[in-house]
Amino acid sequence: MLKKVLAAAAVFTAMSLGHANETDKTYWMHIEAQDVFERSLIADTGVSIETVIENSVYAFGNKQELEQIKKQFKVIESFEFDLESFDYPTGDEKFHNYQELTEALQKLQAENPNLVKLSTIGKSVQDRDIHLITISADLSDDSNLPAVVFMGGHHAREHISVEMPLMLAQHLASEFKNGNSEIIKLLHERQVFIIPIVNPDGAEHDIAGGRYKMWRKNRVTNHDGSIGVDLNRNYGFKWASGGASSNPRSSTYHGPEAFSEPETRAVREFVLSKQDQLTTLLSYHTFSELILFPWGHTYNPIADQNAYNVHRTMAETMSEWNNYRPQQSSDLYIASGDTTDWSYGELGLISFTFELDPKNMWNGGFYPGQDTIDIVFEKNIKPALYLIEQADNPYKVLNKSTYGVSFINTDVGAKHAQLSESL
Ligand SMILES: [Zn+2]
Repeated sequence: MLKKVLAAAAVFTAMSLGHANETDKTYWMHIEAQDVFERSLIADTGVSIETVIENSVYAFGNKQELEQIKKQFKVIESFEFDLESFDYPTGDEKFHNYQELTEALQKLQAENPNLVKLSTIGKSVQDRDIHLITISADLSDDSNLPAVVFMGGHHAREHISVEMPLMLAQHLASEFKNGNSEIIKLLHERQVFIIPIVNPDGAEHDIAGGRYKMWRKNRVTNHDGSIGVDLNRNYGFKWASGGASSNPRSSTYHGPEAFSEPETRAVREFVLSKQDQLTTLLSYHTFSELILFPWGHTYNPIADQNAYNVHRTMAETMSEWNNYRPQQSSDLYIASGDTTDWSYGELGLISFTFELDPKNMWNGGFYPGQDTIDIVFEKNIKPALYLIEQADNPYKVLNKSTYGVSFINTDVGAKHAQLSESL
């Protein structure tokens, strides 16, 4: 824990060595924001809000965004942030780089040929395979078993969001093999799809040279020569309708058009190809310990009361296991073009975003160290199994009182909204 605190402290005291272009320098800002509406205005400038606390937010952004924010809001503090100086001191060898992840998935398939199938849904900008793992006693492509899809690694620096779906796949396979009757039954009745890393190029860039770079986007070259589109602002439902930037240099750049990126197109094509089977989707991100559900692009709740209640009920139920805070995504601030607004809005899938551990920047933020991997898995395996179990018909949760779910009012736009990573 001390190391984590020191690592976080290093972030705040990092001084620039001056090797970035003026326009590309990154600033860490602490900004006064009284409510969700002010937070949304701040998100609209293009900064990525990382932490929401009472009456203020912490965010990363460039100089231009900082200047714009200063005109409208009180900036309590801002630091120029040297990305290159962030060198996490402990060994994080337990994390899987792309090659190691690929090998782990190949091994999983080789050891479980009747249960696990490795394939690809498409290629990244830099031509890496975007892996898909299918886990089921029925691996046929034309299976009509109910299905759920788990995804990780939309954002490059969110490395634990890749480890969680990998460990989920490994857990399902090993428990099946060990004769766990619950898992055996589940995998005879479902197909489970796992896409552990949607943005392999970004993740590889983030760890290149053995130093974390706080990279978020993919690695496409934009028209102005800058790099990267925010894949979780690039989905095509109410795309570019707030909380996403039109500036290619912004960390929340939504891209030149919806689904402009090969990574989001690959997800779209895969999900569309399985839409007769899929009922449920979970996209893992870090950090903040939240369970988020649509909408993100509007403060309004989902209009369909049953669908709203299913999301709320399932989020509340899962929060009993991982102790994350369940809430509508836009309770934090408006953000458009994310995976779950699209998967629910376009296809009606019951859709969640988990912001995994840690809780905040002071516990390590994006880089909490490898000891956090097992903690995240232990907290989140039951919610994952629950989603698989409910995937035949998530609406059945409305008829069950066995989960002891109460419709807790999470106080939309609450000032005490604890934290957020920018989805
Ligand atoms: Zn994220």
